Amino acid sequence: MKPYKHVIVMGIDGAGAFIKDADTPHFDRIFARGAVTYRALASNPTISAECWGSMLLGVGPEVHKLKNEIVSSTPYPVDAEFPSLFRRIRAAMPDAVLGSFCDWNSITYGIVEGNLNVFHDTARDSELAPVISAFVKDKKPTFLFCQYDSVDGAGHRFGYGTKEHLERIHVVDGLVNDVYEAAESAGIIDDTLFMVIADHGGTPFNGAGASHGGWTDAEKYVTFAAAGPGVRAGSIDDMNVRDLAAIVLYALGLELPAFDEDGWTSQIPEGLFEDVNIPAYKDISHLTGAEPRRSREQHTSEAL
Ligand SMILES: [Zn+2]
Repeated sequence: MKPYKHVIVMGIDGAGAFIKDADTPHFDRIFARGAVTYRALASNPTISAECWGSMLLGVGPEVHKLKNEIVSSTPYPVDAEFPSLFRRIRAAMPDAVLGSFCDWNSITYGIVEGNLNVFHDTARDSELAPVISAFVKDKKPTFLFCQYDSVDGAGHRFGYGTKEHLERIHVVDGLVNDVYEAAESAGIIDDTLFMVIADHGGTPFNGAGASHGGWTDAEKYVTFAAAGPGVRAGSIDDMNVRDLAAIVLYALGLELPAFDEDGWTSQIPEGLFEDVNIPAYKDISHLTGAEPRRSREQHTSEAL
């Protein structure tokens, strides 16, 4: 596959699979001919640092050990055993333009090395979107990672999947589109792999409050969507959020680290790219604590 010149990731914290229930006209348009799944698996536990860490490092929480308290208080070591995507890209592409714009700044602070000349900023979603859009138009980034946080806030406050949560997803759909349109007006969209991903979902408000961290379907299944030349239209069978790392490297034409159960376990999902020369997807359910889907279904029919 011809590498993309630009890769843009729009992360939506706490959106889980609920994007499919929300009114998201822009998402629907952007990914009309894209690859989409609402059954990508979050990291276990379904908590932000564990999940975003897995995506940006390509290793699971069982290996990277990041937690919210750690990423919010400790800069990511510049010589960590598991480098971030930013460090891998910078090593291979010294002139790459890199950006990390997160409402929850702990991602940029605690998961991305601070010595890589990564453009970054933080603000609430609605103020961050125009900053990101200006950056896209001005710098035409090689790799841009963004995280919007307000959907998770609405989930905690009102319950995940509630009217308020879905309404917030609708608003953020517009903020994702702002960045997409910036890439269009910058003239780079035909060379861009544009993706949306959620880190985890959450539970409905049940009297005890809404939250996440557990392994119910509402928490563990998340949205992933990709659009760009070479993306196969349709759905993706199997995916874990940590696969984002492999997808980004592959999209930029960079070599993937060897699969290693004690380290890099990020793979390219089958059905994402038209390229047929992609290795078969390995089942990593024994690493993630997730039951393999087939045995889960077996379980159900046994119970019946
Ligand atoms: Zn949360």
